[in-house]
Parts: sequence; structure tokens; C-alpha cells
Amino acid sequence: MEEPVVESVGYSAPCEDCGARLERCGVHSLIGGTLRWDVESMCRACGQATADCGQVLPARLRDRLLTDHGPATLHVTDPSMERVTLMRVLRAELGIGLTEVKAVLGQVLAGAYSGTLPEVEYLARKLRRAGVDAVATRP
Ligand SMILES: [Zn+2]
Repeated sequence: MEEPVVESVGYSAPCEDCGARLERCGVHSLIGGTLRWDVESMCRACGQATADCGQVLPARLRDRLLTDHGPATLHVTDPSMERVTLMRVLRAELGIGLTEVKAVLGQVLAGAYSGTLPEVEYLARKLRRAGVDAVATRP
């Protein structure tokens, strides 16, 4: 069982019920090979509490995580032998076509493909499982 990767960010937002500031906690995680996110909100003024979750990370939560923690980068240590495998895994995991995957492959090989740590670690694990020596790093 691989180590879970979890990142969270706290922020405040206006309460939809009373307009007071409520505290939110957003979490992105990679647990048991699955990416998921969840956001919990709690309003101290009116007591409203909500929780949302899902698998496809909402753009605003992704931006908050990237701003707070900085992006992680995908590194492939010996890319020369493994282009075909790399392209196959990237296409399957990102759900992209042959044209887009070439652009993404260029970013990966240049060490310029980045995202949240759970996202990048997810790809690195899929690549390692396919025999590609890949790691997620953060400066
Ligand atoms: Zn409220």
C-alpha cells in the first residue's frame, strides 16, 4: 500500500445563508490510487455547515492549493527508452488525444509538467507501475 498524499488549504468565504465570513477547509488527496477532493465549510454566525466532495478537482480549489503550496513537478529520470510507454500512460490517465499528448510529453521531458502534489504523484505512480522511472518533486 502506497503512502497517501494529502494537501489542504484553509480560507474564508461569505456564508450563503447569512453573509458572515465562514471558514472553509479544502483538501486534495491521493489515497489507494484514487484522487479526490473535499471542502468543508462552517459558519460560526449561523451554524450553517456544508461538505462537498468529488473526483475532478474544481479549478478554484486547485488554484488555491497551487498558490498556497506551490506546484509539484513530474520528472522522468531516463526518458530516452520510454517515450512510447510515457505517451500511452499520459494518454490513458489524462484522457487526451495524440496531438495533445505530444505537447504534454514535451513538458514532461523538459521537467515543466506541474500540478498539485496529489495530481503529479498520481501520474508518477502510474508511470512507475508501467516501468518508467518517474518522480514527483517540489522545489
Ligand atoms: Zn452563516
